[in-house]
Amino acid sequence: MVNFLRQLENPQINYEMFYEVLRDFRKGGLKPEIYNDFLLTIKSLPQLSKRTISDYKAFDKFGLTDISEDDFSAIMREVMIRGIEKSKFCWHPEASATNCKVDQKGRIVISAAHSIQNNGVLSKIVENGHVMSYALDKGEFDGKELGKNHASIFWGFCNKHDAIFRPIEIQQYTKTLEQNFLFAYRGFVVSSHKKIEVSTWMNYGEQSDNDIKRNKQIFDNAILSNDFSAIETEVFELPAFYPIAVSSAFYLDFDFQGKSIPHSDERMEDIFVTLYPTENKTYFLLSYFTQDKHLYGDLGNQLRSRNNLKSDITMLIAAHTENIYFNPIYYKTFIEKYEKILELIMFHTQFDHATIDENNELNINFSFTPNNYLDNPYDINFFGY
Ligand SMILES: [Zn+2]
Repeated sequence: MVNFLRQLENPQINYEMFYEVLRDFRKGGLKPEIYNDFLLTIKSLPQLSKRTISDYKAFDKFGLTDISEDDFSAIMREVMIRGIEKSKFCWHPEASATNCKVDQKGRIVISAAHSIQNNGVLSKIVENGHVMSYALDKGEFDGKELGKNHASIFWGFCNKHDAIFRPIEIQQYTKTLEQNFLFAYRGFVVSSHKKIEVSTWMNYGEQSDNDIKRNKQIFDNAILSNDFSAIETEVFELPAFYPIAVSSAFYLDFDFQGKSIPHSDERMEDIFVTLYPTENKTYFLLSYFTQDKHLYGDLGNQLRSRNNLKSDITMLIAAHTENIYFNPIYYKTFIEKYEKILELIMFHTQFDHATIDENNELNINFSFTPNNYLDNPYDINFFGY
């Protein structure tokens, strides 16, 4: 069995995109002439739980060969590029070929939108044109410096509908309902868009698509009816400038008291968080749908009464988001020392223990997330002064 067939043993991988690139790069003996037959052979394999190594003998006829680590990395890079390319679309509820910005051929033109205000915020945290970010890559912490103009970009709006964010891009923040709504909306779109890009090669399951659709529907209805009270926002202020910016959406399994938050099967209820610095203070916005107040309504009170804001915000963002940007020098001074701990925290909160059932579907059995993690047993602090 050649090494790249192992992809088929992992139900979390959508193998088709990977093999398409392998075919186009003509690596491992895969080429267009045999590709259809190759796919049919995959589909004729027994389900995972009943599969044995000898079932892979069916591939012997293709004369496939192992691919190198370098080939593997090059193929993965191309897979990610194609995922981004394939997922360009306009999120606006009125998006269509007649409403969106189109080119001469009538195709919707998607532009690179910033998930963090480019001039208002990114320019404040930039150092020599660069910002610092990190991600968990194959289970390992990966910190990287990014050019300001490439940082935090996503391909999720046409040029015309991008204007929806003007009240937070151009106007000064005065905590209006609309501004708070837009911050939450952007956190949602950025996080969901990333998921959609990655789902071209990772299998998140049907539930994840469904969650995005249902949450989008709530935002869309609010936008169409101009009713920004669909979002509740708790605004917190740290009385100093911290060169950190975050825009994200995620769900919590536990609140700050370690109490579990019961989610419905209908739709995963998310919270939306924004962290952004101004001249002399740093805002932290914690938002949720008004209809999810029974789940998240107490979080704001907990944050206030705990009086431990720096630690609490640190844990929320350290554990749940990779759409985070730091000034590179600030990062070196105050964040770098936590890299090993950050890796562990992200691993705990982002991975679940799962088994595979007879339909090759993943069943989550338990999560590694400790119920007291928001208490910051790791003693980390993103706010260094
Ligand atoms: Zn549009």
